[in-house]
Amino acid sequence: MTPTTSERILELREIVRNAPEATSEAARRVMVANRRRDSRPELELRRAVHRCGLRFRVDLAIHVPDRRPIRPDIVFTRRRVAVFVDGCFWHGCVAHGTQPRSNSTYWAAKIEVNQARDRDQAAALERQGWAVLRVWEHEPTPAAVSRIAEAVSQAATWSGGRASAGINAAATA
Ligand SMILES: [Zn+2]
Repeated sequence: MTPTTSERILELREIVRNAPEATSEAARRVMVANRRRDSRPELELRRAVHRCGLRFRVDLAIHVPDRRPIRPDIVFTRRRVAVFVDGCFWHGCVAHGTQPRSNSTYWAAKIEVNQARDRDQAAALERQGWAVLRVWEHEPTPAAVSRIAEAVSQAATWSGGRASAGINAAATA
C-alpha cells in the first residue's frame, strides 16, 4: 500500500469531520458495536501471554518527542516491545474489514485515517528503539502468543548482557 501523504490525511480528516448528522448517529452505533467486539480477542490474548510467564503493562502511555503519547495494547517496558491488537473493522483488515454500505465515503476515510495513524505511531516508536508488533483480531491466539514471545526474547538479546534472558526471565518486564 502507498503511504498516505499528509495532504491526503487532511482531506480524509475533513471528510470524517463533516459527517452529516444521520451519519454521525449511524456511525456512533457502528463504533459502539465494533468496540465491544474488539475487546474480546485482546483480553484473550493478554491472558494467554500472561499464562506463558510474560509480564507486561496494559495501556501504558509511551512518550515520544513532538507528539501525543502512544498507548499500545500490550507493553514490555524493559524489552521495549510494543504490541497493538488491531480490530479487523477499525484497522481495515483485507479479509474481514467490511465497511458499512451506507456512508461508505465516510467509513473509507475513517479507516484510512486509522491506518495512517497506525503506521505513523509504529515509525515514531521504532525511532525510539521500540520493536512494534501488530496482531490482527482474527489471528489465532497461540500464533500471536508465539510471535510475541519471540519478539520479547529477541529484544532481550539485543539489550545486551542478559544472555540468559528468555521467556521466563521476562517475568518482570
Ligand atoms: Zn481480519
